[in-house]
Amino acid sequence: MTLDIEKLYNLYLNSRSISTDTRKIMPGSLFFALKGERFNGNTFARHAIEAGASYAVVDEAEYATDDKYILVENVLQALQQLANYHRRQLTIPFIGITGSNGKTTTKELINAVLSRKYKTYATKGNLNNHIGVPLTILAITNEIEMAIIEMGANKIGDVAELVAICEPTHGLITNIGKAHLEGFGGVEGVKKGKGELYDFLQFRNGVVFVNALNETLESMVRTRYFGEVVQYPRVGDFMACEMLSSSPFVTYRSENGDIVETHLSGVHNFENIAVALCVGKYFEVSAEEANVAVSGYISENNRSQIVHKGTNIIYLDAYNANPTSMQASLEHFMTINTPKKVVILGDMFELGEESETEHRRIGEVVAKGNFSKVLLCGKRMQAAVEANPQSYYFIDKFSLNNWLQENKIENAHILIKGSRGMGLETIVDLI
Ligand code: ATP
Ligand code: MG
Repeated sequence: MTLDIEKLYNLYLNSRSISTDTRKIMPGSLFFALKGERFNGNTFARHAIEAGASYAVVDEAEYATDDKYILVENVLQALQQLANYHRRQLTIPFIGITGSNGKTTTKELINAVLSRKYKTYATKGNLNNHIGVPLTILAITNEIEMAIIEMGANKIGDVAELVAICEPTHGLITNIGKAHLEGFGGVEGVKKGKGELYDFLQFRNGVVFVNALNETLESMVRTRYFGEVVQYPRVGDFMACEMLSSSPFVTYRSENGDIVETHLSGVHNFENIAVALCVGKYFEVSAEEANVAVSGYISENNRSQIVHKGTNIIYLDAYNANPTSMQASLEHFMTINTPKKVVILGDMFELGEESETEHRRIGEVVAKGNFSKVLLCGKRMQAAVEANPQSYYFIDKFSLNNWLQENKIENAHILIKGSRGMGLETIVDLI
């Protein structure tokens, strides 16, 4: 069965809205009956039509009972093909972002900078996978002048699949770190997997933005040929800027000489800021405008958030964690000059064979920090206790919660970090 893409595209143009969840059907939208691990969207197709969808795309013939149902071979592939077809009608720059850490922050910063001059559309939240990327593309309307697309990956081949759908003209890798080691089979696998963005840009003569101080990325760029390589942030690079301080917040000297204060903390966030300034300059946003955008940016969703709670200041970084981002957060926290510092760390997930070693190594980083109190939570974190015999260890969040209820922390700076699955943001209420 071949997909009649033009017919599907016309239906999309008529409605311009896509639904995949029958609890949130938009009237007149095109419903895609996706399959998940625990559900089969086909079984909801009739409900979607009753709830107001104009058509439902299904891939099981028994559900295609009348002409409101479009029967295709595979609903997910139809969604991806439709997104790619739409992408090809758009002649605007598509900036693709991948990397182990900092994608969302970088995407938000680039969007803040470019939107000073252009009508932009950037990935909403973290919609960065094989479904999120097509949905992002299908939300781009004709007046948009610039698209910024976050692409996530947890195994080799994921980025290749996403770039084939969104066909970036420009791109950047934030960094190569120790995230999703399980799926990638080690750091070399991460390089290969994230490098699929470079492979695509090479093949299309695209433009790549690269942090010249990052040796791994620099060497990956050097061994490929691109339409253009745009380097930052050293003096003499396309865009130069200098970090003056990283804690509590990043302050930098911009190319126009301005000293700019931000609401982001840590050296890692300076990297995210620098690429946003570089992309801004490339697309001719003035340094003044870019600085206004960066200094006004405040992170949300537990990504490096600063929360004032009673007498404590909490560095809430509970959105996610892997060895690279955890080390970056700890090193940043160590630079904060205050007498009472408490770290609360939860398990890092998806590390496969490296899990125990990486938790032990993080334990060694913690031990160097000279913190007033160390609270470690989760069964994987046990490996970090060895290097921190004075720490408090909790096998799960339940026992951590109990301890926090009975022991009040006061007048402290507190770092909270762990993988998404740990959901450590909920402990803020107990502090
Ligand atoms: P996800 O894989 O969940 O989409 P992401 O790559 O989008 O993550 P962000 O959400 O921007 O990353 O940031 C997550 C955490 O990673 C931050 O809270 C911070 O601890 C860390 N981080 C951010 N930027 C960097 C960076 N440039 N280098 C290392 N760690 C970083
Ligand atoms: Mg993200």
